[in-house]
Amino acid sequence: MQRLSRAVAYYRVSVAPTSQPASAAVPGVKKHDVSLYQFFAPGGVLSRTHPAYEFRRGQLQMAQSVEQALEEKRHLIVEAGTGTGKTLAYLVPVIRSGKRVIISTGTKNLQEQLFHKDIPFLEQALFPDGEGRLNACYMKGRNNYLCRKKLYDLTGQPVLSGLEEIEHYRAIAAWEKTTHTGDRAELAELPEASALWHKIDARSDACIGQKCSSWDKCFITEMHRRAMESDIIIVNHHLFFADLSIKQQAEYAPDAGILPEVGAVIFDEAHELEDVAGSYFGVSVSNGRVEELCRDVEASLQRNHMLSVSIAGSLKSLRERSMFFFALLPQGEGRFSFENRRDFLEENGEEFMALQQSFTRLGSELENLPSKPEEVFNFARRAQELQVQFGFLMESEDPNTVFWIERRRGGRDKFNVYLQATPIDVAPILKTCLFDKLECAVLTSATLAVGGGFEYMRRRLGLEHSRESVLPSHFDYENQALFYVPPDLPDPRTPQFAAKAADRIRRLLEITRGRAFVLFTSYAQMNDVYQRLLGELDFPMLLQGDAPKSALLEEFRLTPNAVLFATSSFWQGVDVQGEQLSCVIIDRLPFAVPSDPVVAARVKSIDAEGGNAFFQYQVPAAVITLKQGFGRLIRSLHDRGLLALLDNRILKKAYGKVFVESLPNYRKTTELGVVEEFFGVV
Ligand code: SF4
Repeated sequence: MQRLSRAVAYYRVSVAPTSQPASAAVPGVKKHDVSLYQFFAPGGVLSRTHPAYEFRRGQLQMAQSVEQALEEKRHLIVEAGTGTGKTLAYLVPVIRSGKRVIISTGTKNLQEQLFHKDIPFLEQALFPDGEGRLNACYMKGRNNYLCRKKLYDLTGQPVLSGLEEIEHYRAIAAWEKTTHTGDRAELAELPEASALWHKIDARSDACIGQKCSSWDKCFITEMHRRAMESDIIIVNHHLFFADLSIKQQAEYAPDAGILPEVGAVIFDEAHELEDVAGSYFGVSVSNGRVEELCRDVEASLQRNHMLSVSIAGSLKSLRERSMFFFALLPQGEGRFSFENRRDFLEENGEEFMALQQSFTRLGSELENLPSKPEEVFNFARRAQELQVQFGFLMESEDPNTVFWIERRRGGRDKFNVYLQATPIDVAPILKTCLFDKLECAVLTSATLAVGGGFEYMRRRLGLEHSRESVLPSHFDYENQALFYVPPDLPDPRTPQFAAKAADRIRRLLEITRGRAFVLFTSYAQMNDVYQRLLGELDFPMLLQGDAPKSALLEEFRLTPNAVLFATSSFWQGVDVQGEQLSCVIIDRLPFAVPSDPVVAARVKSIDAEGGNAFFQYQVPAAVITLKQGFGRLIRSLHDRGLLALLDNRILKKAYGKVFVESLPNYRKTTELGVVEEFFGVV
C-alpha cells in the first residue's frame, strides 16, 4: 500500500506569508506515515476521529483511484453516489500527493463544506496535537469582493439613490475598515440583490490592476496572494472557467488569470461542466453592459472634472444608438435563436454600423483626453471590446457557434436584452485548453454515468483518455427507496395530464403524509398543479418563488409534513436528511426544452454529422437530470421513502430502458397498494 512519504509538504506549522512554492516543506514537521487503507479502514485514523464513522468500501476505492491518477498523471472520471464520502476520498490523496491542487465545485454549499468542515476535520485528524495545518484557500468570483477603489471613489459623491443605499453604504464603509477578506458573505445584513453592491464590487470590468492606488491592499490582490501560497485552492466552476477563458484569450501569458499553476484539478459536481464551460467560452453583450460603460465613464469623468461637452455628446449618442439597436432585434421573451442575422443586417445594417461608430467615437475621445486617470484607459478598452464582440455576434459565420437572444423583464417597461454566442460543442475547446494541458483532472459526481458507462460525458467534454470507475453505492437502495410509476396516467404531453397528475399527487401525499418535494420540469406545470391542489391538501404547501430558495428550504425543514412545489433549481444541491423528506415526486422525464436555442443547435449538429441526437444527447442528458432529482431523497443510511415518476413513457417507450438501467436499484412498483404497504398504510 502507498505510504505517506510525499506528504511532508502539506504538514506546515503555519501558513507562511511568502511566495514559496507549494512543494517546499517546513523542516521539523511530523510525518504521518499512514497508508490510504490505514486512514479509511476500520480501526484507522478516520474511524478514531470521525463521530459518524462507517467503513465505506467505495470511499477507499475512490481514494485509491484518485491517488493512482495523481501519481500516474492521468485523468480520471468517477461516479460516486451519495453517501460515498467522496470529498474525503479525494482530499486525502490530494494531501498525500504534495501537489498544489484546485478543487472546483458546482455549488457554494459544497465549497463551504470543503473549506469549513472537511479541511478543518482533516487538519484535526492528521494533527491532533496541533503540530501542523493544511494550507487551503477558498476563492469566489470577483463580484463577491469589495473594490476598495470604487468605494473610495464613491465617498462624497452624490450618486447614492434612496435611504436604503445610504444605509448600505454606511454599513459597507464601516466594514471595509475591519474586514480581512472583503467577502460580502461577512455582511449578512446586505440583501442579495443590493444595487449598491453591484456598483462597488471588484468585477474585472473596471479594474485597473497594478496601476490602482489601492492595489497593495486590494482584496483581489490579497486573494491572489493567498492562492499562490495555498496547496488546496477551492473554487467554483464559474470562477475556474472564467479564469481559463481569460488565460486562453491571453495565450497563456504567465500573469493572465487569477488561479495559479497546479498539478491537478478535481472537478466535483462535474455533471455541470458542459453548461458552465459553454457560457465562458461564448460571447455575450447586452443593453445593460453598454449602459454600465456609459455610467462608469460619466461618473469617473464627472469626479475628475473632465466631462467635456464633446464626450457627453458621445455618451448620449452611444446610449441612443444602443437603445435603438436593441429595440430592432427580433421580438420575444426568454431565450430564442437568432439564426437570421444576415437578413437582420441587410435590413438594419445602418443602425448596426452607427452603433459600432459610437463605440469608436467614444473610444478615441477617451484616448485623446490629456493627462487622464488610469481608469479612462480601461473605459477605452471596454468600448473597443464591446465593439469587437458586437462585430463577432452579428457577423461571425463560425459553424461551431449558436447565436441567440435572451430577453428578460427587468422592471416596469424595462427589458434586459442579451445577444449571445455559445459554442455548440465545447469538447474540442476543453480538449485543447484543459485536458491536453493539465497533468491530471479528476471528474466526479453522483451523476455522470449513463447506462453504467461514461461515453456520453467523455464525448460532451472532450475527455478522450482517462481511467474510469463507477463505485458501488453505500446505500441499500432496494430497501430504502420504492420507485413508483403509475401505468394508467395519460402521456404528460397531453392536455389531460395535469388534472390526472394532480389527483395522483394528492393520493400519494395522503399516503406519505406530505413530507415531499414535488418537482416539475416547467414553471407552467408547477403553477397549474399547485393551483389545482390549493385547499385540497391537509399539509402545508410551499411554492418556489414565494421566498428565496434558502428560506423555503429552511421552512420546509422546520414545518412538519410540508410539501414543496419547485422546478429545476431544487433538483440538485439540496440536502434534506431524515423523515421530513420522505417522498420525491417528479412530473415527467426531464428532457431539455427542444426549442431552447443551444439545445436545438446541439441536436441539429449531432444529426448533421450522422449521429442520433435523441439517443446520443437528449436521452443521456435527461438521465443525468433525473438521477439528480431522485438523488434528493436518500441522503443517509437511515433515510427511507418514495420516488414517484408520473411519466410512464419510462415503461412504454424503448428509450425508457436507458433511464431504468441508469437509476440505482430501487425497489420498483406500478401499484399504489405497494406504496401503501411501504408506508404501513392499511
Ligand atoms: S486593483 Fe482593481 S479590484 Fe482592486 S481595488 Fe483597485 S480597481 Fe478595485
